[in-house]
Amino acid sequence: MGTIYSLEGKAIKYSARTPVITRRTLIGATTFSAIVILTIVGYLLVREYRNTEEDAKRSALNIVQLISRDIRTTFSTYDSALINIADLLHSQVLSTLPVQTQHALLFDRTSEAPSSGGFFVLDAQGKLIAHSQPGVRVPANALQQPWFTAHQHTAVDDLYISHPQLANADSNEWIILLSRRLPSPDGAFAGVVVGQLKMSYFQNLFRGLDIGPSGNISLLDTDGTLMMQYPATSKIAAGQDLSQAPNFKRFLNERYGGFIAMSAIYHHERLYNFAQVHDLPMIVVVAVAASSIFSNWQHTALLIGSVTLLLCLGLSWLTWLLLRELSLRHLAERDLATLASTDPLTGLANRRTLDRTLDLEWRRAQRSGCPLSLVMIDIDHFKAFNDDYGHQAGDEALRQVAQAIEAHVRRPGDLAARYGGEEFAVVLSETEAAGTRVLCEKIRLAVEQMPAVLPDHKKLTISLGSCTRYAKPGETPDALLSVADKALYQAKNTGRNRVVNINETGLNALKPPLV
Ligand code: GH3
Ligand code: MG
Ligand code: MG
Repeated sequence: MGTIYSLEGKAIKYSARTPVITRRTLIGATTFSAIVILTIVGYLLVREYRNTEEDAKRSALNIVQLISRDIRTTFSTYDSALINIADLLHSQVLSTLPVQTQHALLFDRTSEAPSSGGFFVLDAQGKLIAHSQPGVRVPANALQQPWFTAHQHTAVDDLYISHPQLANADSNEWIILLSRRLPSPDGAFAGVVVGQLKMSYFQNLFRGLDIGPSGNISLLDTDGTLMMQYPATSKIAAGQDLSQAPNFKRFLNERYGGFIAMSAIYHHERLYNFAQVHDLPMIVVVAVAASSIFSNWQHTALLIGSVTLLLCLGLSWLTWLLLRELSLRHLAERDLATLASTDPLTGLANRRTLDRTLDLEWRRAQRSGCPLSLVMIDIDHFKAFNDDYGHQAGDEALRQVAQAIEAHVRRPGDLAARYGGEEFAVVLSETEAAGTRVLCEKIRLAVEQMPAVLPDHKKLTISLGSCTRYAKPGETPDALLSVADKALYQAKNTGRNRVVNINETGLNALKPPLV
């Protein structure tokens, strides 16, 4: 911090730093810009993330729909064939036809069923009574099989879909059985009509669908049993009970949709898209690893994020540069203002500042009606001092006298200035004659008591002439200046080292000091 004099001559406290308002405005604007940039980029990235998620969901749900439709068509074909067999057996029409025709008619529709492992009919005791082709493998212990007992114990004629099972003990072919109840003419249980669907049907259906790396397609029974998963993995096997898995509960509750969740089996986030296969008790799930969906987005986000961060850093750096330049300019302006307004030898205000201040205070006094005082100060016999001790000592003496004067001019609005040579002036605003006299005497005493510049030097004294008056309209400060000058002249002529005050009522010299 320091003090300079404005062009109007007012003392201004300055800081070496850029003005606070400019600094705050610049820093605020930069921060605001950075926040706006970050917000826009953040918003765009979030929007892009959502779009990526939506796109992935949409295409996965399309796959789910395609699979669902295909399964539904296949199961309908099987069901039509089963119904056809049951109806023919129920109608008793067959018995009138030759055996060859009976077989052809009975299994006529089964040829349309894809990936078929064969159709067969069991009577109420589990005995095979018909089959679609020679070599059809009928599961052993039919009477204990759920698909048999389910029909045995209910009169409702619904399509029953079994869990996947091996075609028989000595086979490694997995199948699911689709069956319907065979009623007797009186409606009692007369057996079961069964169609066997090879699980390879699903493998073929899912093969070639692009679900990304570490994605898979699952077929679940609505009771929570995993019927199959493609591609097969060692982490989970067909027949596993998933009914307690939180994700399965969501599939069951919502029946159709998509969500991102943590996989309890694969231990990473996955996008699950699922749908129940129409009215069948099966749910198709297409699960895609979230990392594969968002990998492109992550690269983009990283790139844009880094560029944005660099941009913000660049902006901050430019702001810092600008602030530094402003600070330097501010310092240069301050130095210029200091040079233009202060006296380089004594550090007091210079003559130009004095003239401006006097003018300003005079006009202020004209408005306010308050008295204005001007004190003219001259060092006594200074030429002799210079002659005796040299100009360097004279300069030092001028500095010390200036300091003694300035030490007494502390009120805001007051100004101590070097008038020229070894003469000084003090402007005292809103100060009565009495107050001015007291201050003049204090300054005079301070100089008188000042130690000599060097021990062998002569001590210095000053003479002071002051004038206190009211600024009348139409008058200029010259009126004040000439009277104060006259008072100084009086002080010199009446013995020096004294104060003479001339106010509006006339000459009023203080008592000469006791020397
Ligand atoms: P008086 O008591 O009547 O005022 O006598 P004086 O000798 O002080 O008055 P005079 O006007 O004859 O001399 C003023 C001297 O002040 C002249 C010059 O040597 C000295 N002076 C003026 N400006 C400077 C300055 O900047 N530095 C130095 N060292 N001396 C200066
Ligand atoms: Mg002089
Ligand atoms: Mg002098």
